[in-house]
Amino acid sequence: MDIQKIIEEREAWLGWKNIRPLRDALAKLPHIPDAEVQLGDWVKVSSPSISEEERARVEAAARMMKPWRKGPFDLFGVRIDSEWQSYKKYDLLRPYLDLEGKRVADVGCNNGYYMFRMLEFAPASVLGVDPSPLFRTQFDLLQRYIRSDRLRYEMLGIEHMSGFADMFDTVFCLGVLYHRSDPIVALKALKQSLKRGGELYLDTFMIEGDEPVCLVPASTYSKIGNVHFVPTVPALENWCKKAGFERFEVLEVVKTEPDEQRRTEWIDGQSLEDFLDPDDPNRTVEGYPAPRRVYIKTYRK
Ligand code: SAH
Repeated sequence: MDIQKIIEEREAWLGWKNIRPLRDALAKLPHIPDAEVQLGDWVKVSSPSISEEERARVEAAARMMKPWRKGPFDLFGVRIDSEWQSYKKYDLLRPYLDLEGKRVADVGCNNGYYMFRMLEFAPASVLGVDPSPLFRTQFDLLQRYIRSDRLRYEMLGIEHMSGFADMFDTVFCLGVLYHRSDPIVALKALKQSLKRGGELYLDTFMIEGDEPVCLVPASTYSKIGNVHFVPTVPALENWCKKAGFERFEVLEVVKTEPDEQRRTEWIDGQSLEDFLDPDDPNRTVEGYPAPRRVYIKTYRK
């Protein structure tokens, strides 16, 4: 796989007609040389010198880039209150992380919220991959002011990770695996991108049960399209073993609460509250078990 060639071809996606206006708005934004970053649940950028007019231009550009799924961010007082309160997932993983000096990849990184958060550990580098030119553009807006030279973002997918052979100490794959129609192939690609002994952090929807079996939603799951397999924990463990991982550690099991994912002015349309059975919050509208996630850590053999 010639990864460099794919990266270069995909740069053209930034010229799509729905993306072009956002890129133009981004290019015209002011430079704020004294911008300062604070990494907390809100990833915050502030400046003592920014004018009201400049702040308004940043806000207009950010609004053009809706929907903001992941976050939140505070850009010079513009409070980008994203659909997901992504700090809940990050805060859950944070006690397990040790990224200092490491080469890290975040696969399915969306706008890079976790990439920015991970800077607190001083990793050597963090590569984010996500095939969305919209989320890449949100990342570029943030990075315009955060300006970390440790971060890089490519519009690639999990299927390209084998192109980064033996490269990473730590790979994150959060909220992506259930979108893959062949989860074992996807896990193999992640494995190939890791150094031997390297670690994978992953979370996925799961169902309860001791048998290694999966739920296969007929069409949507929790109104989310493209959910192919929802495994039990033993099924997930078997996938990981088949893909070439060893030592399977369950870190956490959590139910998705409506306050983690909700409608805000930064998305258009529905959020989780509309996805559960109104008469039974333990069921999705489709009658499946309500979303529950397992967080695991496993290692390349
Ligand atoms: N990792 C984040 C975002 C999960 S949402 C979190 O856990 O909060 C799923 C993300 O996967 C979206 O940003 C979507 O653009 C991205 N995605 C879509 N197709 C993908 C692919 N083939 N490989 C990797 N990511 C993909």
